Amino acid sequence: MLGTRPFEETRERGDLRDMVGSLLARELPADRALALDREGLFAADAWTALGRAGLLGLGGDEAAGGTGGTVGDAVAVTEEIARVLPGLAVDYVTCGMAMRMLGDGTGTAAAAWLPDIASGEKICSFGMSEPDVGTDLLNLRTSARVEDGRWVLRGQKLWISLAHKAEIAFVLCRTDPPEEGRRSRGLSVIAVPLDQPGVTVNRVHLAGMRAAGTCEIYFDDAVAPLDHLVGERGRGMALLAQTLDVERVLAAGISLGIGRAALDLHVTHLREREAFGGPIGRFQALQHAAADSIADLSASRALVNTAVRTMEEGGPATALTAMAKLVAGESTARIVDRGMRAMAAHGLAEESAMQMYFRDARLQLFSPVSNDMIRNILGESLGLPRSY
Ligand SMILES: Cc1cc2nc3c(=O)[nH]c(=O)nc-3n(C[C@H](O)[C@H](O)[C@H](O)COP(=O)(O)OP(=O)(O)OC[C@H]3O[C@@H](n4cnc5c(N)ncnc54)[C@H](O)[C@@H]3O)c2cc1C
Repeated sequence: MLGTRPFEETRERGDLRDMVGSLLARELPADRALALDREGLFAADAWTALGRAGLLGLGGDEAAGGTGGTVGDAVAVTEEIARVLPGLAVDYVTCGMAMRMLGDGTGTAAAAWLPDIASGEKICSFGMSEPDVGTDLLNLRTSARVEDGRWVLRGQKLWISLAHKAEIAFVLCRTDPPEEGRRSRGLSVIAVPLDQPGVTVNRVHLAGMRAAGTCEIYFDDAVAPLDHLVGERGRGMALLAQTLDVERVLAAGISLGIGRAALDLHVTHLREREAFGGPIGRFQALQHAAADSIADLSASRALVNTAVRTMEEGGPATALTAMAKLVAGESTARIVDRGMRAMAAHGLAEESAMQMYFRDARLQLFSPVSNDMIRNILGESLGLPRSY
């Protein structure tokens, strides 16, 4: 029978999924996941368990304290977490990006944090977006200068996942003026300790991804040691660019997880809900909607698999990861919409996870990069003029 379970997988990858699934079934049963989403709370116990199982360190260099693994492993774990609590998967992606950015641990003294981040003992966040700057990131205003032998930061970051729990934030800021008019030059990544007088973190409350713990951060002469610069000074965008392909397939992994869980709920409802003397799943119109959803999910998965395979083989993957992020995000928005329609009032009930998936799927259209920007990049790869 056709199901939502991933296809084209090795036994090892399947075992990894089962291990994550059992861990989450213990730590985050469905009613607890829904309660955390409702209250906007971080799933701290589940995070600790993920760390103990070595899953937070995936993507991190083993010599530096990470647990290695392949991109495909990280995508599979992200998907499994998103099935249960999509907000936690957003945090998981942030952690994975930190693992990759810190690399072999030689590019910054802040890499000393890597083993503790990988074990879940310390939490980090990633500050790029600002109140006036999201897609147009190069226009950011947060700045850092060197004073008395340390970095001093001023500015504000917004929509930063997990900053209220984090000890450290990787902050993209302007340290130098643009070079030859190139705004991407002169930006740097600095690892800033958050527990200090110059930093204020506030929670912001959203209608979706509530369990991710979205925050704003103010830097009011916040300080960081000079050797907390990550990578090269003024080359922060180049550093981030190295992790973009991974970030996009991990984001696609969140979309797959939400889409899969929503479709499972949808089909169960078609079987169980009765109207006019039988299950509503016998109505052709409702079957067609579910059929469109499994086709959407499978097409997304095939594209994600191709992107992952290409990355693992070292091939050119940028267009593929961009398409995977776009297609999986847009498909998932359609899948949750169809699920909601089929479940009608039952989907809107607070007790139903469908309403959580419906709200959380919105993020997949614009974050970590907007799907419109992905379209711009794809348009350009087709040889069309740059549109932004
Ligand atoms: C739950 C959540 C967690 C997040 N976590 C983090 C985090 O940890 N760290 C972090 O730095 N950020 C985080 N973000 C922010 C996220 O990355 C931004 O929301 C995203 O980059 C889009 O920016 P924006 O919301 O400012 O939209 P804008 O950039 O203002 O875009 C608005 C609209 O304009 C469109 N648009 C903009 N420019 C163009 C263009 N050139 N061509 C076509 N269309 C265009 C966009 O597609 C969009 O539809 C998070 C956001 C949320 C909601």
